[in-house]
Amino acid sequence: MGLDWYLVRCKCGHSFGHKKGNNAKCTICGSNEVTIVQQFSDSRSLANAVSDANLPKELAKELSSRLKSKSAIEEKRKQGPVSIRERISVTLRSATDEQGVLRIDAIRRELDSAGLDAESWESIIGGAELEGILIRSSNDSWRWV
Ligand SMILES: [Zn+2]
Repeated sequence: MGLDWYLVRCKCGHSFGHKKGNNAKCTICGSNEVTIVQQFSDSRSLANAVSDANLPKELAKELSSRLKSKSAIEEKRKQGPVSIRERISVTLRSATDEQGVLRIDAIRRELDSAGLDAESWESIIGGAELEGILIRSSNDSWRWV
């Protein structure tokens, strides 16, 4: 039995198998710039090697997306049991643009995504103005004091 089954790696990082004599073409990016990693005498060993070769990458991808969603949940949980006052202040901070300006549409959007009543923006801003936290800078925008 010859070593007719090749495990090859594409320049894009994807590993796949191909049989001697065939054109090796990457199943991910279609490139044929591949490097032979290992040779096998049967297709079954090759198939195992291919899945092993691609596993770490897939696993890492899956793990990192799981970690990401987990930390997002954690983040939400952390923000959970805080006072409405704190939530409003966080919301107003995230509605602030690079110039330090808060606009009505951003405020409403952030209130909405924080699960607060977007329609209450007027009383929220009014309260912040009264407390001397925000100052009106135009018809529809405010600045931090
Ligand atoms: Zn490729």
